[in-house]
Amino acid sequence: MRKYKMLLAGEPVDAASGETFESFNPYTGRPWALIPRAAAEDVDRAVAAARHAFRSPEWRGLTPTARGKLLSRLADVIAARADELAEYETRDNGKLILEMRAQLRYLPEWFRYFAGLADKLEGRVIPIDRPGIFNYTLEEPLGVVAAIVPWNSPLMLAAWKMAPALAAGNTFVWKPSEHSSVSALEMAPLFAEAGLPPGVVNIVTGFGTEIGDALVAHPDVAKVAFTGGDATGAQVYQTAARNIKPVVMELGGKSANIVFADADLDNAVKGVVSGIFAATGQTCVAGSRALVHRSIHDEFVERFLALARTARMGDPLEESTQVGPITTRPQYDKVLGYIDIAKSEGARCALGGGPAARPECGDGWFVEPTVFTDVGPSMRIAQEEVFGPVLAVIPFDTDDEAVEIANGTQYGLAAGVWTSDVARCLTMAQRLEAGTVWINTYRVSSPLSPFGGYKRSGFGRESGLLAIREFVQEKSVLIETSGAKVPNPFIVR
Ligand code: NDP
Repeated sequence: MRKYKMLLAGEPVDAASGETFESFNPYTGRPWALIPRAAAEDVDRAVAAARHAFRSPEWRGLTPTARGKLLSRLADVIAARADELAEYETRDNGKLILEMRAQLRYLPEWFRYFAGLADKLEGRVIPIDRPGIFNYTLEEPLGVVAAIVPWNSPLMLAAWKMAPALAAGNTFVWKPSEHSSVSALEMAPLFAEAGLPPGVVNIVTGFGTEIGDALVAHPDVAKVAFTGGDATGAQVYQTAARNIKPVVMELGGKSANIVFADADLDNAVKGVVSGIFAATGQTCVAGSRALVHRSIHDEFVERFLALARTARMGDPLEESTQVGPITTRPQYDKVLGYIDIAKSEGARCALGGGPAARPECGDGWFVEPTVFTDVGPSMRIAQEEVFGPVLAVIPFDTDDEAVEIANGTQYGLAAGVWTSDVARCLTMAQRLEAGTVWINTYRVSSPLSPFGGYKRSGFGRESGLLAIREFVQEKSVLIETSGAKVPNPFIVR
């Protein structure tokens, strides 16, 4: 078994207690790596290292342009290791190697984009209405940013936070998920290789329930960037609130993929398949509800099932595999639990509906691609995030009804629309309560495009021009320039 170390102040270190825990390969169901099990004192060390680096001339003294160049170098270093990192992710979280390779090869673009923005944070001169006063603003970093990320896209979701936070001049403490810490720890040496001063990025590993509070509540953590489920998000938000700390929250979803009668059905079927079965449904933007116009419902379902039945399950490291395992044992149990709930609620199981007992699935945590029809919009399977390969198909009759059903959950992360009518594209884009609306496509993301949730799917935006503003604060500077004597000091000027 590989034994890993955390990254604190530029050094590979064990947890102070020396304790470790096992990371599992979801394809084999067996442990394959030992990860340091941090406690609150390790969090203190990580935050102290980040705080020290934040104040150090090696980091604070850099011009924004020089900072940007370091991030560009980091992008190059990551690019050179992309395939290797992808393989670690696949072994650790079971996502398909083809997807992880593509994701890791694209990941440097986040660092390049924000590297370019590092020296474009400009202050303003305010035309203040007080004669003799010169007023300007400074855009300053916050300090130490803590990032807490889930297991489904470990490096990408960390990069979405790290790239803008570092570009703005902050330092970083990164807590990966206990289920997928390997790729973060494999990435640890790359920061020094790129020339980042020690302590600018620190990685602390362990259980969220054991170190999450210590990290979020730490007085020297200036902001928390969180991606995960909404229940954990609410806990993190409460702890942050008690400590008057800003947060950015990327939470779960129950996204609707809406297929209108005028859609290119072939594309729509593929789009809905990709929305729910890619990444084995373990993406925050999973299109887990297919809203299908009643006039094409039966034909859509028939074509959808025909395609879904061809899905090849198996070893995620094989390039021919199309549906991999569920990443964690608890998640596997949760997905099967939701399948039982859907059956007991009266939804009709048209495909799958249980563990995958195919020989190519070995001892891994596999669930059959599952499709429920006759789903009512208020059923739990249509309201709650499953985070697995389970689709709920819901018919609709009018555009208004489609909008009502699509918006009728507490989430608002993403939505898909399949139609050939331009006017309908525009109205649906406007009426859907979701941070991202994909039209005649699904799951496209880019460092240039803002990403985030409406409603219970979170707040704040990652990626895009404004994402860097999550990690700066504006300082107003007022200078007396007229040389006038200080007036009555006992009243506010
Ligand atoms: P969790 O919410 O369980 O965990 C997310 C992170 O929070 C993990 O690192 C976890 O650590 C940590 N954590 C757990 N408890 C605490 C705590 N008390 N305080 C601080 N941190 C804690 O999510 P999952 O890992 O199960 O990931 C799946 C969820 O993530 C889904 O709901 C999905 O929708 C969402 N997600 C959202 C995205 C978005 O951009 N909107 C993108 C991807 C996923 P540990 O692993 O050790 O428990």
